[in-house]
Amino acid sequence: MNTRRVYKENVYLKELNAAVTGVRTDHGRTLITFDQTIFFPTGGGQSHDIGKIIWNSKELNVTDVYEYDGEIYHQVETNLPGNPHSHVEGNSNAEQKEAFGLSKGDEVRMLIDWNHRFDNMQRHCGEHILSGAFYKLYRGINRGFHMGKDYMTIDISLEDSQFDKITWELAKAAELETNRVIWENLPVITTHYDTKEEASKEPLRKELKIPEDITIVRIGSFDNPSDAVACCGTHPSHSGQVGMLKIYKIEPNKGMTRIYFDAGERAFTNYQREFDILTEISNKLSAGKDDLLDKFQSMEVHTQGIKDKLHSLERILVDSRAEAINSSLIGVEPGAFVKVYDDIAKDIVQAIGRHFTKSHPLSDDILLVLSSWTETFAILYASSASKFHCGDIVKDLGRSRGGKGGGNKTSAQVTFSSSEELNDFLRQVKSL
Ligand SMILES: [Zn+2]
Repeated sequence: MNTRRVYKENVYLKELNAAVTGVRTDHGRTLITFDQTIFFPTGGGQSHDIGKIIWNSKELNVTDVYEYDGEIYHQVETNLPGNPHSHVEGNSNAEQKEAFGLSKGDEVRMLIDWNHRFDNMQRHCGEHILSGAFYKLYRGINRGFHMGKDYMTIDISLEDSQFDKITWELAKAAELETNRVIWENLPVITTHYDTKEEASKEPLRKELKIPEDITIVRIGSFDNPSDAVACCGTHPSHSGQVGMLKIYKIEPNKGMTRIYFDAGERAFTNYQREFDILTEISNKLSAGKDDLLDKFQSMEVHTQGIKDKLHSLERILVDSRAEAINSSLIGVEPGAFVKVYDDIAKDIVQAIGRHFTKSHPLSDDILLVLSSWTETFAILYASSASKFHCGDIVKDLGRSRGGKGGGNKTSAQVTFSSSEELNDFLRQVKSL
């Protein structure tokens, strides 16, 4: 028996009484069918309804709804309180019926999650109007639709268009046209046709793919529609209920343009969130929103000036420290020469080492060790003819003390997790 689809007759019905026509399990899922339903099954790019089934003061959550062979299956959560068969996979039909106390012929009250449904209706209808606008303005054809959690996308193809590219300006014009259609509060008319021939009389923006049993959703009049397309989803009765639509971004995708957008309450809450972010930034910068871009650009110039100054100061620091090492090494005893910097970061210590070794050849009997105390880091240098092997020292004395690092004969580095470990390592190196 085919389930009567009451959501098609009245999309605004939030509650309904229905009689159970079957309870079954399939791969651990519990599925119930009814003589009629207000639960929309997944289809046409729209997700299924969620909600509750209530009977004898018991409640079941409906977690999935799908259509198969004319029947609409309602998958329910089976972990009822006190149900001994909760979470047990593979129960027989008889056990399930007993567990629920629900069987064929029982009357239940069904309730859909209206916020979830209305959200779907707003978004789906918004997508229709936007696709219609791209078609009307540019003969752009919607070749793909996705309804995601954070946004929706459509892929617009310009194969039949005089335009060769959808620019941000063109997208914004389609967005404005869409919102005008919303403000006009046009009727959204859903008509069922038995054959493709009959349905083709509608002013369609897209060719029909199925031969029979076709539902056409038209927004506006027959002579001047904002959109008309085959669709089995749920839509509000008037375009005004979509509320608003906002395009977030556009990008090329497989020779088409992918449009990211949202509609209804989701678009509005996103606008609120972004407005709050903008307000916070403008408060922090003590600038009006209209002056933010100018302010940001002057800050970029200012930041670049600071970076340039910092860079030249770094060069002076690196030069002078490298020269200081050179002076200290004159006449020094053979062995390890350790220099610990307690106020210089790791990357500057590395730069000092690089600068020094590039301009001053190390004597064969010296192991040069530069260390950043703040970052518990050390870098070792030796000449290629030296008895010291930097990589081996890090391996033998560094890693055994918890250090992480490595290197080759002439250069190696190691980082410790504590100053005690670094100190211990440097003490060992000094005694080499
Ligand atoms: Zn639709």
